[in-house]
Amino acid sequence: MLKNLFRRKKPESSASSAGTPATQPPQETEPQPSPPLKTDSPPVDTATHIPPSSESPPKDGWFKQLTKSLSKTKKILVGQIQGLLRVGRKIDEDLMEEIEEILIQADVGVNTTMLLMDNVRETVEERGLQDSTDLEPVIREEIQKVLGEPDQPLQIESADTPYIILVLGVNGVGKTTTIGKLCYRFQSEGRSILVAAADTFRAAAADQLQIWCDRTDVDLIRGDEGADPASVVFDAVQAAKSRQVEVLIIDTAGRLHTKKPLMDELAKIGRVISREIPEAPHEVLLVIDGTAGQNAIMQAQIFNQAVAVTGVAVTKLDGTAKGGIVIAIRQEIGVPVKLIGIGEQLDDLRDFAAHDFVAALFDEKTDDSMLEKIQ
Ligand code: GDP
Ligand code: GDP
Ligand code: MG
Repeated sequence: MLKNLFRRKKPESSASSAGTPATQPPQETEPQPSPPLKTDSPPVDTATHIPPSSESPPKDGWFKQLTKSLSKTKKILVGQIQGLLRVGRKIDEDLMEEIEEILIQADVGVNTTMLLMDNVRETVEERGLQDSTDLEPVIREEIQKVLGEPDQPLQIESADTPYIILVLGVNGVGKTTTIGKLCYRFQSEGRSILVAAADTFRAAAADQLQIWCDRTDVDLIRGDEGADPASVVFDAVQAAKSRQVEVLIIDTAGRLHTKKPLMDELAKIGRVISREIPEAPHEVLLVIDGTAGQNAIMQAQIFNQAVAVTGVAVTKLDGTAKGGIVIAIRQEIGVPVKLIGIGEQLDDLRDFAAHDFVAALFDEKTDDSMLEKIQ
């Protein structure tokens, strides 16, 4: 039985686009020595593309939709493993190494693959398994263990102060989109929300956020282009307190994660928030592009040094074969995956649930025609 862990607030029939191809993250922009002044015509920015709100026909049930989103990852990862196991081979070291290779190529990463397969070997020995067909449930079990339990969905704890969610991540990973989706979710839960545009580096960034906020009827606090992001955050925290909103979501800039200034800026934002509300930010949500592969792990480690990350959102899992990255995140970064993005529409955000993720990958055998296509 599937646990109902992907809590959908909307009925299963809510509309959204299907099969949107994953987008590559746009190129990083080099920062200029001093940010340009606000102009009437902001530079053209590919990141301002916003998919139209959906009027598409009712969709499959949420689990079917999840399975569909993960189908490419399923083919690369589980399909290939099943292809090995079905031959009725004996379990031996060669087989184990072939499985390892598949996992590594499917973006599970070397460290996580090694840990996972060591556990598989142990279980095989303990249970005295010999036939390769007995291996699939063991691999499945171990993947679920590596994903970590219990699941830790993003939860707003009601308190006297606004619940502050600071959203971090490299340009183009889907921060703004994820914030739009979160607004939609909180809105449908009947919560009061405020959003802050602390990505003041480009006016287009705040404009894009404004569109999402308009769509969900949420107020946005923004500063002029080039304003100190920490001062926008300060204003937003004050506004959130005085308006007594339940949730404040802060969008941040994502340029050049490898350079110190951005990390200093994020750390400063963190300090400004904590000075106003000591227990905040309550959630530091790092957004990771599910199509970025192992690179995303490196980025995450850098962000985690600037502000202690408490949760990860993996976006663009629809249409990518690189979803194996989800398996590596908790192990590599020490932070649970809390949300996954499986499309560009407002309702394409899910609480992450390890059991359902694994079920979507393993349930329903991959057939031979699928395997042929990936050869
Ligand atoms: P930001 O620079 O981190 O704020 O990223 P944006 O929110 O602007 O998103 C960059 C691009 O990724 C946009 O074209 C989004 O529509 C797209 N995107 C974000 N999340 C998802 C997702 O879950 N699935 C797909 N297919 N596209 C997404
Ligand atoms: P530090 O950079 O960590 O030493 O922190 P500061 O005390 O300099 O404050 C950090 C930022 O918070 C400042 O650059 C301001 O932008 C913002 N800030 C602090 N206090 C106020 C305030 O009273 N009003 C506004 N608008 N911003 C403030
Ligand atoms: Mg953005």
